[in-house]
Amino acid sequence: MSDNCIFCKIVHGDIPSRKVYEDDEVFAFHDINPVAPVHFMLVPKLHIVSLLEAEEVHAALLGRMLLLAPKLALEQGLKNGFRTVINSGKGGGQEVFHLHIHVIGGGNIPPMVKRD
Ligand code: 5GP
Ligand code: ZN
Repeated sequence: MSDNCIFCKIVHGDIPSRKVYEDDEVFAFHDINPVAPVHFMLVPKLHIVSLLEAEEVHAALLGRMLLLAPKLALEQGLKNGFRTVINSGKGGGQEVFHLHIHVIGGGNIPPMVKRD
């Protein structure tokens, strides 16, 4: 647990969230400011800042999270597919510095990056 980390506080229940899933290593909860009808995040309980700080020892954990994403997406009703987003570092648009996988779907999902 890292002091002053919003997602560590959510994992520990110190800040309330709408939980989607929890196991020993992973916590998932709905985004407070969704960009689509379904928008939740998968986070490791372990405080890893971003993919930039992830190491070989985290390989199995990251793999488990990726395999969980489609299972949870289906449970949330996203039968036609979903988008995953991982923002890494300020240059990647990351705002909360605890690694997380966004799972987004439902409605019309626009192209990932707008082209001129
Ligand atoms: P990032 O830009 O770091 O990839 O995404 C951070 C996400 O966390 C944003 O989509 C934002 O809406 C969400 N978020 C920030 N604070 C909270 C919070 O206190 N609770 C929940 N459920 N989501 C949050
Ligand atoms: Zn944290």
